[in-house]
Amino acid sequence: MSHRQLRDRYGMLDKRSEDNLWTLQPLAALKVRQMMTALRGLADWKLICGIRTYAEQDSLYKKRPRVTRAKGGQSMHNFGIAADVCLFVDGKDVWTPSEGADSIYKPVAALAHKLGLVWGGDFKSIYDPGHVQLGELPTAILHHAYTTGSATLAQLLQL
Ligand SMILES: [Zn+2]
Repeated sequence: MSHRQLRDRYGMLDKRSEDNLWTLQPLAALKVRQMMTALRGLADWKLICGIRTYAEQDSLYKKRPRVTRAKGGQSMHNFGIAADVCLFVDGKDVWTPSEGADSIYKPVAALAHKLGLVWGGDFKSIYDPGHVQLGELPTAILHHAYTTGSATLAQLLQL
């Protein structure tokens, strides 16, 4: 389904979420849209990041204090299959509590698991509870497929 068909089917989200959603691969867009539709029924959750170019990723990598260990081509965001959500209360972004029984990310985790998305709060390397992604393919494989055209995302994910 196209982004437009998905939007018509599930309903329009806020502009920021829509703009980020439309940068995702259709396979990811379906699940992330389903998650966002459910999240927005609970509170003012927005998608704050969708695709990131290699150049954008490289500038993020250079930031201090460090915000990411991934250079261009090493983040799932570079391939349009990852997204970040953020909770807003009275128009202000809220980030805590991010862990434990009162974690604001509980519904994100529950919905990601239900929809078959990988939740960043489950990562061993870095706890990233606002992050969801489609599958756990190594970025080197994605980079190779995307730059050579040797395989589609659906083939890589064996869908
Ligand atoms: Zn992320």
